[in-house]
Amino acid sequence: MSKKIASVRGMNDILPAQSPLWQWLEARVAGVLAAYSYSEIRTPVLERTELFQRGIGEVTDIVEKEMYTFDDRSGESVTLRPEGTASCVRAAEEHGLLYNQTQRLWYRGPMFRYERPQAGRYRQFHQIGAETFGMDGPDIDAEVILLTARLWRELGLTEQVTLELNTLGDSDERAAYRDALVAYLSDHQDQLDEDSRRRLTRNPLRVLDSKDPSTQAVLQNAPSLLDYFGDATKSHFETLRAMLDQAGIAYRINPRLVRGLDYYNRTVFEWVTTALGAQGTVCAGGRYDGLVAQLGGKPTPAVGFAVGVERLILLLEQQLPELTPAAELYIVSSDATAALLLAEQLRDALPGRRVQCHCGGGSFKSQMKKADRSGANWVLLLGEDELAAEEVTVKCLADGQQQRMARAALATELGQWLAARN
Ligand code: ATP
Ligand code: MG
Repeated sequence: MSKKIASVRGMNDILPAQSPLWQWLEARVAGVLAAYSYSEIRTPVLERTELFQRGIGEVTDIVEKEMYTFDDRSGESVTLRPEGTASCVRAAEEHGLLYNQTQRLWYRGPMFRYERPQAGRYRQFHQIGAETFGMDGPDIDAEVILLTARLWRELGLTEQVTLELNTLGDSDERAAYRDALVAYLSDHQDQLDEDSRRRLTRNPLRVLDSKDPSTQAVLQNAPSLLDYFGDATKSHFETLRAMLDQAGIAYRINPRLVRGLDYYNRTVFEWVTTALGAQGTVCAGGRYDGLVAQLGGKPTPAVGFAVGVERLILLLEQQLPELTPAAELYIVSSDATAALLLAEQLRDALPGRRVQCHCGGGSFKSQMKKADRSGANWVLLLGEDELAAEEVTVKCLADGQQQRMARAALATELGQWLAARN
């Protein structure tokens, strides 16, 4: 026998037992996005490497060390997308979606990052995200946050997540702050952890969210970004806060929240949970007014967010009963053709019911065993007797009750019988 081939490390299969929960979640999220009139956009998983280098930023963790980048057969450097925003901007620009109009878009799909795999962190993972373009007021920031809050209500996760909010100011404000922060941290270099020392020259704001205790201590007395904001940034943030307050959305201001991607300005937010250990962020987003221009378009204000689907699934698994992918109706028969035709008749008559026809033969007894093991709720028996009488025996596997029904009246009678037992 030849050796078995395993999957690539950090890339997961979503197995039949898990896919009903994924489908349930995806349907609910799509429903919420529709309720806010967002339109779905689907972009390729592979893009030119330059898109992410320029979009996400050369000195971010993602571009520095997490991307799946390779040359294709013509020697062009391509990258498996590590996130959705840059692709979304690229596609919207390329197809003229940003020309003199506002857009509310959403996407879903796999993302790829070469990270150390652990619970809640994988090399292929899934995001559902939304991006809005052309709106510069705090109202759209508030809408995006209200949308995510509704997601948690819809998924029953309100108790598990809390909102953290911050503003990063505009790029000139950040640049002034950056200088002050670098000056301060340079004086305390010896007390910083290794990652933070590296970031000090390359991406100093990221030092702010270091988890290292010694770095944390140094940060206690670091200059605060708040002191560098002008009136426009301040009033944008204050109006957003007032809108959230009026809508009854609780949040915690976290001045250390800086996000790992370079393109954010002003509003940033994360929905976090304590239930998943270190991988606590289930949704992250914010404003990125500079990105469209950075990628070659006209300056266009933008706000968006992305949800980590695997982390939501982990949360949901902690509280939902297992959703079953099993059939509801299982057909057992001594006549394979008759069984197939009955199954077709049932699919016509009872749309939405999951019907499984036993295939592959076997005795009545072994077919019944398989029906039992399948997890189906009801068995429809089509033996010689039933075939001759043009009838079907319907058996409830939970209580063993059974009843014979005429084929001609099956659709109505069975519908009623099932409804009474649901
Ligand atoms: P983290 O700090 O956890 O690395 P991030 O800041 O890199 O997150 P974003 O790029 O903002 O994350 O992505 C948005 C969301 O996607 C995250 O909040 C998380 O839920 C999810 N996510 C990011 N990276 C991974 C991964 N490797 N595996 C699973 N989910 C991920
Ligand atoms: Mg990360």
